[in-house]
This record gives sequence, structure tokens and C-alpha cells, in this order.
Amino acid sequence: MKLPEGARIIIERLANNGYRGDIVGGCVRDNLLGKEPNDYDITTNAAPDEMVKLFSDMRTIETGLKHGTLTVMHGGEPYEVTTYRLDGEYTDNRHPDSVTFTDDLALDLSRRDFTVNAMCYSPEHGLTDLFGGREDIEAGVIRAVGDPERRFTEDALRILRALRFAATLDFKIDGATSLAIRRTAHLMKRVSSERIMTEWTKLLTGVGAYRIITEYFDVLSGVIPNITLSGVPSESAFLSESRTVRELSLFSCVSDFDFAMRSLKSDNKRRRHGALVLEYEALPTSRPEELNLLLVKAGLEATEDIIALRRLRGLGDGENILYDLIRSGACYEISHLALKGDDLRDAGLQGREIGDMLSEMLTAVALGTLKNTREELLKFIKHC
Ligand code: ATP
Ligand code: MG
Repeated sequence: MKLPEGARIIIERLANNGYRGDIVGGCVRDNLLGKEPNDYDITTNAAPDEMVKLFSDMRTIETGLKHGTLTVMHGGEPYEVTTYRLDGEYTDNRHPDSVTFTDDLALDLSRRDFTVNAMCYSPEHGLTDLFGGREDIEAGVIRAVGDPERRFTEDALRILRALRFAATLDFKIDGATSLAIRRTAHLMKRVSSERIMTEWTKLLTGVGAYRIITEYFDVLSGVIPNITLSGVPSESAFLSESRTVRELSLFSCVSDFDFAMRSLKSDNKRRRHGALVLEYEALPTSRPEELNLLLVKAGLEATEDIIALRRLRGLGDGENILYDLIRSGACYEISHLALKGDDLRDAGLQGREIGDMLSEMLTAVALGTLKNTREELLKFIKHC
């Protein structure tokens, strides 16, 4: 297994001081899958205050120390080093009421969500896999550690994590785990909208996203309001598009999307962009002038997504026309006009008249009724 220098140094330092350190969780899973891990977490039997002493010469961040996590920086990368931990009672289906530190590695691994996420590794001890995680990776299975219904009841976020991992790793969900997901799905309303949004966003990027969304549509529609599969004709179309376009294809109108994004506390950029795409989605795009007008109204980024969304929905393309337009130097922004605001001022226009005239000229140029040359534009102003 490949370990970055920082992880190696941290594990060595722990070992030299009589403690054990192992990389754990997602990085072990990704290593076994032959993927580059996002980050490396380390689990250790050193207590939090002992870790603080051991790594005092390195840059560290102590914000998670109450929960046993010291972030150690190396080469600009953060390593989360966490004391073996047991979660206490869960009374809110989301957060343990308390955490207890332990020196038993098996207990630390058993609190983790899925078998594929519950393995650890160190050069000295090799792979520690107490729940058959390696086998599940080979078979492509997401399986809860321990009793699935209990694990989802403790923390309902795990339901969404199961769907997200199944989608991104293109894994199946084990039968008992799947049954427990359906039994406990109602508890997801306790999960904060930010966390739902994070998992939903990752899920949408997955190669198995379409499969999971259709198979668990009832579960997902409980937390992502207004989604529908009616505008998505095929899996291959869905999967060939970007995350944004995949998401938009699951909504049938602007107001449904806007409501969902507001209730999930989406950032404004994502909400506004999606609303713009859905608003102009039905405009015709088969002739260059129509597409040019769409570019004026929606801008290039949204127009590209509109074309992709229409393609996904099986509604023809327009893509070639769009790229021909762009290549031929189409005029779709005020800055593309052959006249500037100053020229209009010189022509005797002032204040709001200038902006209004520029947009009028832009529309006329886009529609092909006015040529984008200085001379023609000046004539147009005179005529107006
Ligand atoms: P990613 O690739 O998204 O980083 P990850 O598996 O590393 O995936 P993290 O959220 O970074 O996920 O969590 C690190 C590890 O902590 C997980 O692999 C898992 O062992 C454990 N874990 C995280 N969240 C939970 C949870 N809600 N319940 C139980 N264990 C969890
Ligand atoms: Mg991680």
C-alpha cells in the first residue's frame, strides 16, 4: 500500500514512542481500489494530550481535540490523527451524546459505517480487516458494520453515505443493509440540509448515480424535494452529462428546483444558474439566430448547459450550431458590439438610454437584423 511521506512520518513517530498508528477509513479503501485517496486519516492508541506533545514541533490544528482529533500538517497537507474512539448513545439520530477514548483498535473500527471504510493499515501491522471489508471491495458491496438498522438509527446520515458510496464506487448495497435503509429512511429528516447537500452532490457525480437514484428514488425523494425521473429518458444520456446537468434533469420546472435548492440551503450560485437553465430550457435552439438570442439572454455557460440538458432529455441538440456560432465570433455580449458606451454618449445619448440602446442593438445583431459594424450601429442609433 502506498503511504505519503507525512503519514509515514506520523506513524513512525507514534511507533518510536510506544504507540501504534495506522491509516484508516477512506484512504485504505481507495488504496485497495487503486484510486488516489482524497486525504489520509490516521487512527492511534495515543491519547489526545500525548499526541499534542508528540507533534509539538510540527504545525498542528487542535480544533477537533475534544473528539480526539489532532490535525498534523506535513508538506502543506493535513493529516487527521484520531485517538481510538467509541461513540456513546445517539439520542438525535445524528450525533453521539459523548465520545469515549479506548485503547482497543477493534472498538474503533467497529464504530465505523461500512465494512469498506472500517479497515486500517500500517507498514508494521499490515492490513487490519475485521469485518470482511476487502472481500466486499472485491465483490463491490456496501455493507454496514454490525446491525444495519441500528447503525442507521444511530446516525441517519449513514443512509445517504451508503447511497453516495454505492453511486461513486459503482457498488451494490447488501440486502440487509438495503432493507434497513428503507426501514429507517424517515430518520433522514433529522440530518442537516448542509450534510444532505454534500452527500447528494457527491452522489450525483457517481458512475452508478442513475442506478442508485432510480433504485432508491423513494428514499431520496424524501430528502430532495420535487425530484422526478420523468424528464430522464435513458441511463446513458444521464451519465454522459455533467453533475449540474444531471441534477437539473431531475426537476421539471424552475419553481420545483428553486424550492428544493432553498430547502437544502444551496449556495446562490448553484440555485441561480440552475434556475436560469430551466427557465430558458424550452426556447427553440434549432436555428443560429435562435441560439444567438439564447446566448444573449442566458450567457454562454447557461446556454451550454441548456443544450446539454435538452440532449439529455432527448430533445435534439443544437450543439454544433452553438460551436459554429462561437467559432465565427458571434456577438452575444454588450462587450462584443462594435460600439462602446462612449460612442453612444458622443452620439448624444445619456444615462439609462445608453444601456437600453446597447441591449436593443445586441438583440438586433443576435437576430441578424443588424450588422455588427460601427457604421451600421451608428446608423441604427440615428434611426432610433
Ligand atoms: P471520502 O472519500 O468522501 O473522504 P471517507 O470514507 O474518507 O470518504 P470521511 O467522511 O472522510 O469519509 O470519513 C472518514 C472515515 O470515518 C470513514 O471512512 C469512516 O470510517 C468514518 N466515518 C465517517 N463518517 C461516519 C459516520 N457518519 N458514521 C460512522 N463512521 C463514519
Ligand atoms: Mg476522507
